[in-house]
Amino acid sequence: MKLLCDHMLGSLARWLRFMGYDTAYPEAVGDRELLMIARAEDRVLLTRDKELAARAPGAIRIRSDVLEEQVREVAASLPLRLVDPLSRCSLCNTPLVAATPEEVQDLVPEDVRAKHAEFWRCPGCGKAYWRGTHWDKMIERLNRLDLSKA
Ligand SMILES: [Zn+2]
Repeated sequence: MKLLCDHMLGSLARWLRFMGYDTAYPEAVGDRELLMIARAEDRVLLTRDKELAARAPGAIRIRSDVLEEQVREVAASLPLRLVDPLSRCSLCNTPLVAATPEEVQDLVPEDVRAKHAEFWRCPGCGKAYWRGTHWDKMIERLNRLDLSKA
């Protein structure tokens, strides 16, 4: 399942990527282009735009401004779950690769490197990832959402 977020849904796009979903989030592009991307790449369009949602088959209209609610809105239509956290870059959607502490030496603070053994790196934008406090908080927020009951 591949997703496409419109320009109003940047935070949602980052969350969906965190969960492991291939989520495109193009720069501000017109409706026509969004529809083209959805069709060409076989992506489910998530949009705040009611009229646009009506024009794209299978699109999901997002009504809420609140991130947690937006995730629920998607989960109401798609079988959303935590697929594989830390498999994609939250910033650019590129699949992450495992990295050694040495490889992320310049990207990760020393105290973090001392505490963690597993790291990931984005080959697209270079960002480093690890299961730190941010990761814990994301997982906690997702668990609180209890998507199985959405
Ligand atoms: Zn990246």
